[in-house]
Amino acid sequence: MTAGKHVDRGLLTAYLASAPALPAETEWAVEAHLENCRDCRLLLADVVRVREPALDLVLSRVWIGVEAAEPARPAPTRPAWARWARTWAPPTMGPWVLTGVLVALVALAVDLAAPPDRLPPLVLLLAPIVPLFGVAAAWSRRFDPLHELTAATPGAGLRMVLRRTAVVLVVVIPVLAVAGAFTDLSPALWLLPCLAFTVGTLALGTVVGVGRAALVLGLMWTVFVIAPALPDDASPPLLRQAALPWWVLVVVGAVVVVVARAKSFTAPGSRY
Ligand SMILES: [Zn+2]
Repeated sequence: MTAGKHVDRGLLTAYLASAPALPAETEWAVEAHLENCRDCRLLLADVVRVREPALDLVLSRVWIGVEAAEPARPAPTRPAWARWARTWAPPTMGPWVLTGVLVALVALAVDLAAPPDRLPPLVLLLAPIVPLFGVAAAWSRRFDPLHELTAATPGAGLRMVLRRTAVVLVVVIPVLAVAGAFTDLSPALWLLPCLAFTVGTLALGTVVGVGRAALVLGLMWTVFVIAPALPDDASPPLLRQAALPWWVLVVVGAVVVVVARAKSFTAPGSRY
């Protein structure tokens, strides 16, 4: 397919012509390579010159127009920390992560206002779904207008999804830890379900899309666990000490699924 490390001329010609015989994966691979390889971009320009002189003429005119319209001042650059932060998470995730934090804080406020023997604490009930707001936005065409652009970059895929999920957890876990301390909860009780739902969303997300997975799991938890527990005066069985080994199993199982199906995050036509 390629000559050594680079894309060969024949493949670039087929890519230029959008040959129907060219599989979508090959097209993606060529695009990903072109993004990083100046030599192959120059070769593509040469193929355009030879095979599509009319297109080449249009491109030259566009370049003349772009250069004429180029502002004299360079575009303002962001400070280094802002550029670094953007390699971890897109700004579109901000409001979603914040929503999760607010949900945790409201739950804490309700728990503090409630009589001291009231069980189960709302913080404990909500902890599993607090990260889901941010996780839903971590890899979703619906919540991120630049998603298709991101998904087509060579850095896209499991690594990027995990980086963004890590950002959600880094923000959410300290808030839950404070809320858990105020409501006298053992950290494992809220942390394990919280992690299980986060990784579980990614695992289910490899099949139905991360945004949809977060919605489905969040709704199921709300309907089948939170709603029945509210009028009750006892923690639901799923959130007791005895259930912790099961949560560990869910975390491990979900991690295996996510790793095994990692390719689905960037598969062409995937339902992100
Ligand atoms: Zn190359």
